[in-house]
Amino acid sequence: MSAENQVLAETSERDPDYVTYDVRDGVAWVMLNRPQYSNAQNYRLLGQLDAAFKRAAEDDAVKVIVLGGEGKHFSAGHDIGTPEKDGHMARERTSLWWDHRDKTGAERQYVLEQDGYLGLCRRWQELPKPMIAMVQGGCIAGGLMLAWVCDLIVASEDAFFQDPVVRMGVPGVEYFAHAFELPPRVARELLLLGERMPAARAYQFGMVNRLVPRENLREEVAKIAAEIASRDRFGLALTRQAINFVEDLRGKRQAMDGVFHMHHLAHAHNQLTTGNLVAGMGAKEMAKANKDQAAGQ
Ligand code: ZN
Repeated sequence: MSAENQVLAETSERDPDYVTYDVRDGVAWVMLNRPQYSNAQNYRLLGQLDAAFKRAAEDDAVKVIVLGGEGKHFSAGHDIGTPEKDGHMARERTSLWWDHRDKTGAERQYVLEQDGYLGLCRRWQELPKPMIAMVQGGCIAGGLMLAWVCDLIVASEDAFFQDPVVRMGVPGVEYFAHAFELPPRVARELLLLGERMPAARAYQFGMVNRLVPRENLREEVAKIAAEIASRDRFGLALTRQAINFVEDLRGKRQAMDGVFHMHHLAHAHNQLTTGNLVAGMGAKEMAKANKDQAAGQ
């Protein structure tokens, strides 16, 4: 075992379960498990999520995957301010990009996000089993990325969707599906204003498949998952691939590649002009801005 691998192994032994995994009746329930931080996604959580999805993909007993979040919120997005924020740590990569840690300039963040954000989301989008996002409370920025890689989004009435990162001087999150998930005019509004979009409004645009009272969310998702699980595995895989194929023909993949580079132009610009990738908008500043805006909404 190389020195680096050893570090990774030791680190993962110490890590809490940021993600839990449970299989029942052909359905893998994959739950984000950092409710104390509104399921903010650090890189170790994303690593555990990838491991859970890989396990579900390889297990013939699993027909359908549900992705949910413990606690009040589905996910507050990428971890930009908890004590377990880990962009400086070694991580296991799923693509052939190299280690970001000792790199400088624009390279460091570019390499990190190629693998850790864009790369992982694309890998999950291509996982050939149906995925259902079960969304309650906030589904914010990086949270959208997780919901969007799923086939269906089932949301509770208290759920809301938001991408406020234009405040950080960047044009939306790394997995840029905004204008495919929503009509372009609405995607512009989501990004430019960065407001909370209530689940009922997202439902009107077809971004949400079912809208249910909070107390019925799990039950409704279980019902849909059971129905899908009764279908043929290969047929399900091809169906998911077919829709992915159509979306890519409509330009989703190319648009995302183009915007990913604008996103990194913005990170680099911020770094040059403010000395900070996100123009000094950390977790505290973002939380305050969001709270003030929600109060006026
Ligand atoms: Zn970024």
